[in-house]
Amino acid sequence: SRQDFIRNFSIIAHIDHGKSTLADRMIEMTGMLTQREMQSQVLDSMELEKERGITIKLKAVRLIYKAEDGNEYTFNLIDTPGHVDFNYEVSRSLAACEGAIVVVDASQGVEAQTLANVYLALDQDLELLPVLNKIDLPSARVDEVKQEIEDIIGLDTEGAPLISAKKGIGIDAVFEKIVEVIPPPRGDESKPLKALIFDSYYDAYKGVICYVRIEDGQVKPGDEIHMVNTQKTFEVVEVGVVTSAHMPLDKLRAGDVGYITASIKNVRDATVGDTITGAKIRTESPFAGYKKAMPMVYCGIYPGEGEEYTEVRDALEKLQVNDAALDFEAETSVALGFGFRCGFLGLLHMEIIQERLEREFDLNIVTTSPSVIYRVTTNAGQVLEIQNPSNLPNPSEIAKIEEPIVRAEIMTPTDYVGAIMDLCQNRRGTFIDMTYLEETRALIKYDLPLNEVIYDFFDALKSKTRGYASYDYELIGYRESDLVKLDILINSNVVDAFSIIVHESTAYAKGRRICEKLTDVIPRHQFAVPIQAAVAGKIIARETIRALRKDVLSKCYGGDITRKRKLLEKQKEGKKRMRMVGEVEVPQEAFLAVLKYD
Ligand code: GDP
Ligand code: MG
Repeated sequence: SRQDFIRNFSIIAHIDHGKSTLADRMIEMTGMLTQREMQSQVLDSMELEKERGITIKLKAVRLIYKAEDGNEYTFNLIDTPGHVDFNYEVSRSLAACEGAIVVVDASQGVEAQTLANVYLALDQDLELLPVLNKIDLPSARVDEVKQEIEDIIGLDTEGAPLISAKKGIGIDAVFEKIVEVIPPPRGDESKPLKALIFDSYYDAYKGVICYVRIEDGQVKPGDEIHMVNTQKTFEVVEVGVVTSAHMPLDKLRAGDVGYITASIKNVRDATVGDTITGAKIRTESPFAGYKKAMPMVYCGIYPGEGEEYTEVRDALEKLQVNDAALDFEAETSVALGFGFRCGFLGLLHMEIIQERLEREFDLNIVTTSPSVIYRVTTNAGQVLEIQNPSNLPNPSEIAKIEEPIVRAEIMTPTDYVGAIMDLCQNRRGTFIDMTYLEETRALIKYDLPLNEVIYDFFDALKSKTRGYASYDYELIGYRESDLVKLDILINSNVVDAFSIIVHESTAYAKGRRICEKLTDVIPRHQFAVPIQAAVAGKIIARETIRALRKDVLSKCYGGDITRKRKLLEKQKEGKKRMRMVGEVEVPQEAFLAVLKYD
């Protein structure tokens, strides 16, 4: 049948093992793009992604391959994001495939993300095709890494393609293996439409573009479609596939991967994981596993000095049209005025949004410390979800506080096991178990508070293991903990934007650190400025910024007038980046100083 000549697959890999390079090479070798059309990495199209070397949004591309058996095959290559923040999207794109290529760097071997992604693929019952990449490197250890793949992942590596994606070596073998190993789709064209949305994004001209895998049935322009989970109905405007650009077709059929547009105005109406079916004749078995994007990390975003609240709101609204996981609502801070509490999938997602606000919208913003969601039970038995530390009730009203816990799986050479256990112990981790994958490599499992991993756990792990350890985590639930709100007072006023929730045992050390940092970044004033840290109204640390003695201008006593003016101009420039907190000028970098308190 028609579907016998279709192969739908993804490439999964640990970061930097060569997923994008292999995808590019496959696109290039099937002649879908001319060399000139092909920018360095087609699948990582956002500028930001390129700079950070990560793939945030997944896309699909159709390739035509003439196989050795003489037949022409349609390959639908579905790209997956490479960061735990986006694991749900990864799982949905894998659900759109029958198989996955597992790329392993032949010099690095199997890493935590290789394994995490393999698990996600096995959850979707995918056929896995191991590929060893970077065999051109002198440090490639082909036989050892093959053995690792067999021992750790349990995949047969006999006949696994040995390739160099960069140099274009062995790519044909990959194509042939795809034909041989990955099963064709087996949908039923005569059944009602059943399509999985595995990615969607907003396009200014066409509205939301849904990337879909058609499981059963067919879809064509003019059809009325229904979103099973969001319950919205739309009329299809265009369907097609992505080659070097969007290429419209008259219809998409069972087994196909392509796109649908239907004048949809917001990605929230076409979210990843939802099932598209016919408006009149609906499928009886929508895809399982739909999840609404759940923010895990929150922070305040406020207009910087000279910036308007409405401009920030407009920018957030624009970003949200294209990002179903971005959550925001208005909030007010005593220190910062009107702004927004924003929710993100994780810290990377948060940083991306901050950067986009600054770069694409040219906004000057102030960001408060990120916070996870705490669950507070009051003495009255009420359960509150706290995303903003300032909203934590008085300690006397709190029966218990619970915090989100993640299970982390850390893969490391055995030399670093001790260092990693120290690190996890310091981050309030609970040891779960450790297994030796090989003589020289261990997999360590710890349960850790999300709060302790979101800031800089990854950096700490890398520096303690010289970059050799890799890790991955997933949220497993909530656990009661001795948490307190740490307040910072400037000139005796609590600055709400500085408040953070910390474990009782670390409050003193963190309070001191923040006071010291603020003393460094807040300029001297005409009067002495006390900086204090407090828990439940009790001062636990204190620093003082000494008063300024002389007027700045007195330095230029007798100097010429232009020099004085320059100095005044300079002061004014400096002021722009300040926030007034009571009588005290606080530079924006102070908010960053609190954020990076380690
Ligand atoms: P991804 O994070 O898995 O998408 O990895 P990339 O495709 O971005 O590759 C990461 C780095 O490895 C880049 O600098 C590539 O140029 C390099 N790379 C990819 N494939 C090969 C290869 O076969 N040989 C060598 N030497 N380098 C490669
Ligand atoms: Mg990549």
